[in-house]
Amino acid sequence: MRLILLGPPGAGKGTQAQHIVQRHGIVQLSTGDMLRAAVKAGTPVGLKAKDIMAAGGLVPDEIVVGIIADRIEEPDARNGFILDGFPRTVPQAAALDKLLKSKGLTLDAVIELRVNEGALLRRVETRIAEMKARGEAVRADDTPEVLSQRLANYRAQTEPLIDYYGEKRKLATIDGMKAIEEVTADIKRVLDALGDSAAKIRSRAARKPAAKKTKASKGAKKAVKAASAGRTGKKAGKKAKVAKKTVKKAAKKAVKKVAPKRAGAKKAKKSAKPAAKKAKTAVRKGAKKASRASSRPAKKVTKTRAKTARRLTKRG
Ligand code: AMP
Repeated sequence: MRLILLGPPGAGKGTQAQHIVQRHGIVQLSTGDMLRAAVKAGTPVGLKAKDIMAAGGLVPDEIVVGIIADRIEEPDARNGFILDGFPRTVPQAAALDKLLKSKGLTLDAVIELRVNEGALLRRVETRIAEMKARGEAVRADDTPEVLSQRLANYRAQTEPLIDYYGEKRKLATIDGMKAIEEVTADIKRVLDALGDSAAKIRSRAARKPAAKKTKASKGAKKAVKAASAGRTGKKAGKKAKVAKKTVKKAAKKAVKKVAPKRAGAKKAKKSAKPAAKKAKTAVRKGAKKASRASSRPAKKVTKTRAKTARRLTKRG
């Protein structure tokens, strides 16, 4: 499973990511944590990021994209991962798309934790006061002033990702103002539903080729039957017309039913084409037979009329 946790700083992404990690056995990849480790270790990346982070700014896209590209290559990420704090800009999201595509991987969902900014500031202030009271070290960027800057960055640079992933139908929004356990339960529901629908899609995909064939060939069979049933005169013409309609309908139906999604539609259309062609040929043959038959009816009519005349004469 590959997920993104989206939300402003202090929304509880880290806490919720931990729960997901435990439940799904995937790794949490937090660019914030990785950058802080780089700063601590004094690496070239750390040196570049240090002042930007302390001021509540965003580290350049190419640096964080590089960090993520390397990290998802590691064996522990093979099972899946949850991205926390990445992507934070549209170019980062586009780079991630490219990265995943190049590895043949897909993103399962983006979970947005929606919170109220005012409440968020109060939450952070309380947390800082509690940490100080316990004598713990407070992060350099964990002050109300820097948080305001980080929130402004979130609004300007990260919030567009809500539309970005919404349009890709990957987004699930959760009320992050609820109690931690309730948020965890809501996320669990989303991920369970995701697992269910993924299982359904897999089993549908396993049945799909057979279904395609059946629909398309059923349409063709119906049309062929209707066409060959029309053997004489007007009746044949009518039946041929009906058959033609049936072919069109069957082809349309096959496209619609077999592939309701846009991507599948092309394939289904393709598979319905030979069926329609087959049926069209049958219609043409039926029509030919019909016209041959309709060039003979004079004889038949004469015979019938003579018979009737004889009967009438006899009665008379
Ligand atoms: P976080 O712990 O996710 O709040 O990140 C802490 C800080 O690291 C942020 O305020 C940024 O300065 C930097 N950072 C983390 N992730 C990113 C990212 N994806 N893009 C740019 N800067 C980031």
